This record gives sequence, C-alpha cells and structure tokens, in this order.
Amino acid sequence: MSYPTDYHKILGLRTKSLCTTCAQAGGFGVNKRICEQASGGYVESPEDTGDNRYKAKVMLGPDRFAPRLHDVPHEELEAAGIRGLIIDLDNTLLGFRETELAREHVDWVARAHERGFRIVMVSNNFSTRVNTLAAQLNVACFPNALKPLPFGFLRAKRCLQLRRREIAVVGDQLFTDVLGGKLCGHYTILTEPIELKDFAITRFFRFFERLMLRGKR
Ligand SMILES: [Mg+2]
Repeated sequence: MSYPTDYHKILGLRTKSLCTTCAQAGGFGVNKRICEQASGGYVESPEDTGDNRYKAKVMLGPDRFAPRLHDVPHEELEAAGIRGLIIDLDNTLLGFRETELAREHVDWVARAHERGFRIVMVSNNFSTRVNTLAAQLNVACFPNALKPLPFGFLRAKRCLQLRRREIAVVGDQLFTDVLGGKLCGHYTILTEPIELKDFAITRFFRFFERLMLRGKR
C-alpha cells in the first residue's frame, strides 16, 4: 500500500510519526481510525491481533534520533508544532562531570530563545551542578527529577505553560528521557551520548538500550 508523501498534511496532522502502531501493520503510521478513514478499508494492527509487544516498541521508540542537540534544526521543530523543549543535561549538553558547555549548544539555545522557544532543563543529577549550568543557558531547571518518573516532566510542563504535544524532550537515554517523555505524551528526540563514561547504573541500562535500538539509529 502506498501513500502520498504529504499524507499527514492532507489529514491535518502535524507530523508523519505520531504513532507507530499501525505503521507496523502497513498502515499510515498514525492510527487505525485514520488509516480506515483515508484508505477506505480495514487495516489490521497488532492491537487487533492481541499482540501487545508493539506497546513496548512504541513507548521506547523516540520520534527522532539526532547526533547532538545542535544538529536538530529549529525550523524542523517549528514545522512539527513544537514550541517548548525539555532538555537533559548529562551527556546531552555536556560530557559526564564536565563543567564547560560546548559553544554549539550555548548558541543553539540562544537562537532557540530568539525564535520564541521556551526551554527548561530536567536532570536526574544533583542541584548545584544543574543550577549552575542552567544559569549559563538562561533556562529554568528541575534537578533530582527521578526520570523516567513523570514528576519532573510535569513540573517542567507547568513551567513551560504549553500543551504536551507542543513540547519535545531531548536526551541521551532511552529509559529515562525517552520513556519519561513518552509517558507524559511529549515528542521525543534521542541524542548520541557525548561520552561513554557515565554512572554505573546508566552503563547497565546502555546495554539494554543497544538491544532495543539495534538497527534503528
Ligand atoms: Mg543524560
């Protein structure tokens, strides 16, 4: 089954990848109702067959991959209806235990502010480090967030005063940033970790991350 490349615009949707549930069954990648409406026919999805394995894939699949935050064009986010960003700190903005932010990230955040994006930092790291680096970027921050639990994301959303689909979560970890962002209904972008050195617990999860993302990056 083939579809026009701009089907999401025809259907009045912001992006092509809102959901992967029916894409796996050869549908639009939006949802079953829209598939039926657009194609005029029934499209079998894993949901219909009782196969629940797709749920884990959906919850742990980022909407977009990027090598670094500054590789994501502002225009692309605007086109996807994103107006706010929740950004992770460690290994997303700077390496583990580094204290100096990369010039590219400082410039990217400054340009994002100029374009009207609202940005907050949500980190599992302790307060002093997160506060210092957030101040350098001129953004609010929520340290000790216990991601993927939703508390930090909910506080960030309140701070941004945007709807959940207008917010993108950017981070380097599948099981904290992406999973937490998905649980809260945000657009998610998974970046490459800046360095492999990290907390022992993070290194443990990286192993499963590699399994989940095999052949996807
Ligand atoms: Mg991180």
